[in-house]
Amino acid sequence: MSAESAALSSRRIEVAGGLALVRARIDSARRAAGRVDEVTLIVVTKRFPAVDVDLLADLGVTDVGENKEQEARAKYAVVQSRERLRLHFIGQLQSNKAGAVAQIADVVHSVDRAKLIGALGRHRGPMGRPLDVLIQVSLDGATGRGGALPAEVPRLAGLVAGQEWLRLRGVMAVAPLGADPDRAFADLRTVSDAVRAEHPEARWISAGMSADLEAAVRHGATHLRVGTAILGTRASLG
Ligand SMILES: *Cc1c(COP(=O)(O)O)cnc(C)c1O
Repeated sequence: MSAESAALSSRRIEVAGGLALVRARIDSARRAAGRVDEVTLIVVTKRFPAVDVDLLADLGVTDVGENKEQEARAKYAVVQSRERLRLHFIGQLQSNKAGAVAQIADVVHSVDRAKLIGALGRHRGPMGRPLDVLIQVSLDGATGRGGALPAEVPRLAGLVAGQEWLRLRGVMAVAPLGADPDRAFADLRTVSDAVRAEHPEARWISAGMSADLEAAVRHGATHLRVGTAILGTRASLG
């Protein structure tokens, strides 16, 4: 075996192991919560190379997440298995990057202001198929790290629903640092219920990461965004 293929097969064992552990955690959390509906696992591939994405697709992963427009665009241009994968954009998004994201993403989780909604809608039209959108909710009263305040969410949801090329799917949040994730995800559920009262089809709840996915499942998450527990520790930025 060449050094390169030996490295690839040991990475495959590592990633397959992480994936099996996370799938087992999700199954047992669903069982504990008495949930029979589906929970979608999104593997967050940020700062990992394209070969890892192909490996994940080989292992049956269907949904992947990225948080930076430039990295996502460069990486997914060389991912061999792109047509088998749904790409979820989960990071803070500047309006001037909305066009590029609208062209590569299948779902955007981080919509948190009116200007972004207009930009995504405008740029998605030429693609000829709608973009799935979640409203990101800030659960700690601050908006600096992305997310709209809960009181703003119904208005933003209405704006998304009014866009021809956007499809309102639900809400997303990250549990605030140091906060009790059960409390945070219970609050997110309340916001989700308010959105669903007006838009019954918008039933997705994107919540839960490596450290708190069980709490998210308990509070009705339909989509989990998991990186570290599957792919290992990310290289630090800069
Ligand atoms: C990086 C990231 C994740 C994954 O976090 P892990 O702790 O590695 O599982 C989930 N959601 C968002 C928004 C992220 O940026």
